[in-house]
Amino acid sequence: EFRAPPSTTALHIPDIPDDLSLPQFFLDYSHPARPLRPSGVPWLIEDGTGRAIGFDELRLRTASLANALSIKWNIIENDVVCVFSPNHVDYIVCIHATHRLGAIVTPANPGYTADELVHQLETTKAALVLVYADFLPTALAAAKLVGLSEDRIVVIEPSAASPFNGKHETLSSLVSLGSSKPQNFVERKLRPGEAKTKVAFYSFSSGTTGKPKAVVIPHYAFTANILQTAAHHGLNDPSVKKKQLNPGDVSVAGTLSCFDNIPAEIGAVLPFFHIYGLVVVLHYMLFAGLSLVVIPKFNFTEFLESIVKYKITHLCLVPPQIVLLCKHPAVKNYDLSHVKWCISGAAPLSGAILKSVRKVLPNAAIGQGYGMTETVTTVAFMSARQKMGVVGSAGQIIPGNIARVVRPDGTLCKEGEQGELLITGPSMALGYLNNEQATKETFVDGWVRTGDEVVIRNFELFVVDRLKEIIKVKGFQVAPAELEGHLLTHPAVADACVVGIADDYSGEVPLAFIVLRADILKRVAANPREGEKLKAALKKHVADNKIAYKRLTGGVHFIDAIPKNPSGKILRRVLETRRSNCQQSS
Ligand code: AMP
Repeated sequence: EFRAPPSTTALHIPDIPDDLSLPQFFLDYSHPARPLRPSGVPWLIEDGTGRAIGFDELRLRTASLANALSIKWNIIENDVVCVFSPNHVDYIVCIHATHRLGAIVTPANPGYTADELVHQLETTKAALVLVYADFLPTALAAAKLVGLSEDRIVVIEPSAASPFNGKHETLSSLVSLGSSKPQNFVERKLRPGEAKTKVAFYSFSSGTTGKPKAVVIPHYAFTANILQTAAHHGLNDPSVKKKQLNPGDVSVAGTLSCFDNIPAEIGAVLPFFHIYGLVVVLHYMLFAGLSLVVIPKFNFTEFLESIVKYKITHLCLVPPQIVLLCKHPAVKNYDLSHVKWCISGAAPLSGAILKSVRKVLPNAAIGQGYGMTETVTTVAFMSARQKMGVVGSAGQIIPGNIARVVRPDGTLCKEGEQGELLITGPSMALGYLNNEQATKETFVDGWVRTGDEVVIRNFELFVVDRLKEIIKVKGFQVAPAELEGHLLTHPAVADACVVGIADDYSGEVPLAFIVLRADILKRVAANPREGEKLKAALKKHVADNKIAYKRLTGGVHFIDAIPKNPSGKILRRVLETRRSNCQQSS
């Protein structure tokens, strides 16, 4: 078994409160491990307007919104509220207001199509949707499909002046309503231990196999991960003299990325709906006393401008953004010497890119973090004592977590030996909502099976391969089973298998192997141009119905049969080996 190195702050695992909800921990209670934020250091800064939001405003808006949700819709314990929004200064208000009522938040990717949102609304039985104005049409279409009444859709407006369809309540009107009325609800104090099972979030992940599932995240796991990471960074440890994060530093979070020359899409800079953005950026950075610059909309050069304008010191990124920092021609026009810390997570970062980003950010500690939705994010992080992450390492196991590396027969690997990573610790999720089978496969006797193949050496965790099915495109999960199910709805398709293919920018992109129906196959064999047209049609079938990062950018290939074992399970590895021989389809 592997743990955090004893030479680090690992010995000081702080007490994790087991009777507090996330807002009670975050807004009401001063944990001894919490760094003191000097007065006047704002919590959130809205990029476009420069509006700074402090603790009092945040807390008041949260209480007011909670009151309005109670008055208007009687939102109570265990109701589910979906937040369908890019990053926004009120994102945290939506979360904590919901939690004050004992209700559960399900954060959704605002780039989803109506069908994708329907899956999330149906799985979680959401009672209310808080939607950013730009995505109102998708929310309305999805609400109609699941039978959710239109008056249960609240618009988070991008700015006070923004036009929107006046039929809906807005967040600001609700905040005004809630603040003008007496408190309509009683916030419950949890019993000792109750925070370990009291559900805070349903976040989506496809786990090791199958379609996206709702990961059940309790309040305790969430606060545990914040406190464990704080211990890892020695935030409250006097023996760590030069800290990597200090109150008054500035971090950045944005969602809607329209990188130059890259099609507009959602989520290229740590979105709050993904566990990495939700825990590490939105909550951990604020806990550490940093100010968070929130950018709902930007392109890469504007992102560089914001880094300079707000003197942003801390960057939490995914590998494609680090690639852009290394390769984009505009970078040389910006002085990024004030950046002190840059972390890459959610997907592997190559050694070559790590080395070249050092030149772009000469004064920054640069390294990786590793985690997953099911472990409520951080499992490993670059050490507080390192100026540079070890090349290829995803970090060191954080205090409180225990790692096992196991061989295929279940026996334990030795240090330096490759095997599947299993993790246990206080921040593990409880399982998948209403999916006993998948829960049993991934959550085994208190351990989470990560589905990642790793080596641990000298306390460093190296992710060497992925055993599970998911494809990671720019850090986002793509579930092959979801795309296969969708491809099978096309009349030409008899069978389908989707695998990931390596891509310099995105990390991986999806590629589909397709078995055509016999009659179609005959036509294609007789006329190869028919085949090309059909490949384009299949790509379009996905592009028309799925969010941009799920597109079949890796190509479409026709094959005679999908290799399967006797019980019908797709032998993906066989096709993954074959994929390297494939020419990328146009
Ligand atoms: P998600 O639940 O979307 O955060 O996905 C979790 C998965 O992302 C992990 O199981 C890994 O496969 C992958 N992952 C996260 N961080 C890293 C990293 N630093 N290096 C390699 N893979 C990573």
